[in-house]
Amino acid sequence: MPEQLTPSQQELLEKVRAFARETLEPRRDMPVDQARQAVIEASRKAGFFAMTQPAAFGGSEATTLELTLVRDELAATNAPHTGAVFGPGPGVLADVDEPLRSRYLAPLLAGEKRGGFAFTEPDDAPAPTRAVEDGDTLVITGRKSYVTGGTDADFINTLVQVGDRGPAMVVIDTALPGVSITRRFSSIDGSRHAAFRFDDARVPRAHIIGTPGEGMPRAMRQIGDTRLQIAAQCAGTMRWVLSYLTDHLLQPDRSGRARGSREGVRLRYADLRIRAFAARSMIYRTARLADAGENVVNEGMACKVFATETLGEVVDTAIQLVGGGALVEDHPLAMLYRQVRSLRLAEGGSDVLRLNLARGRLDLGKGRI
Ligand SMILES: Cc1cc2nc3c(=O)[nH]c(=O)nc-3n(C[C@H](O)[C@H](O)[C@H](O)COP(=O)(O)OP(=O)(O)OC[C@H]3O[C@@H](n4cnc5c(N)ncnc54)[C@H](O)[C@@H]3O)c2cc1C
Repeated sequence: MPEQLTPSQQELLEKVRAFARETLEPRRDMPVDQARQAVIEASRKAGFFAMTQPAAFGGSEATTLELTLVRDELAATNAPHTGAVFGPGPGVLADVDEPLRSRYLAPLLAGEKRGGFAFTEPDDAPAPTRAVEDGDTLVITGRKSYVTGGTDADFINTLVQVGDRGPAMVVIDTALPGVSITRRFSSIDGSRHAAFRFDDARVPRAHIIGTPGEGMPRAMRQIGDTRLQIAAQCAGTMRWVLSYLTDHLLQPDRSGRARGSREGVRLRYADLRIRAFAARSMIYRTARLADAGENVVNEGMACKVFATETLGEVVDTAIQLVGGGALVEDHPLAMLYRQVRSLRLAEGGSDVLRLNLARGRLDLGKGRI
């Protein structure tokens, strides 16, 4: 839990609350693109935007605990456009040299180019996305099925099997001949995605991030980093839902009794609070371990599984206790119901993460938990 905060961390929390109240909330009914742009500008001024960005590019490189605090607190306000508060982080481009550094990393961090992450392959792909080496060029063939933000991306960081040298992350320009979008779609949370196809797309060899063979660990590091971010948002959203539910249960029902006076309701309500407390505790503990330089791969997976599943349960039970009104399209709980479902699949499905955790301990003897 976020106890024992330093005065500057406490100040950061106050600043987040004020930002949500004064900058995000008033933009709830504005057209989305206009609102997001205004939020980005305000966030730059307030110093949130650069928290996820490296100092070499003018960022403030916040600690994991600080980022967790901000994500948790923003989500706890259930304010709109929270996704526009942080600037893009470097992701898999974090340690690239020239030419990738000035062609992609710098414009990405400056907000001049948009990137996507192309990892997932379609179920019916005959072979993984692969490259044949031709001098200084990679000739790439294959498909990727689920690239978030792919429709607007200038480039996509793509997992590619390079000959028999193993997988590599490769930066592919979306405007390149041979690169096409085969499908544009939205998931139920409203986020937009694209499926890509590569037909002998010729990409400079210099677009390989690191060396062939390193693709999987590099991709996994990026995915791993986002797991704690998702968990922190879940912790905040749980707090918002529980506060909404508490207000509801304190109101009288048709008979004049407080809705929360029934024992059956109280048992469910207490259970949600216990699980939310456990989720938030493990997330803050993991953030502190990460800042102490510990390897938190397993803790990150555990937080993601537990926080996303608990949030799903919290929202679902809250709807059940509030009743049919909570399922009307623009009710905040109905909106959250759609929003949180994808979190149990994106960035690693729950069961796949469970299996990874078990493998680490049983087959490799690794991991603290
Ligand atoms: C909102 C959203 C955004 C996404 N954004 C991106 C993105 O930007 N880039 C990207 O590359 N992908 C993205 N994805 C795809 C996401 O990473 C995959 O959906 C996820 O990894 C699961 O893979 P899959 O859909 O191929 O399902 P599968 O791998 O087929 O898994 C489906 C289910 O099968 C079971 N299963 C699978 N493997 C095993 C196993 N080894 N053992 C036991 N059970 C197993 C599990 O129950 C699992 O949940 C996104 C998905 C969502 C929902």
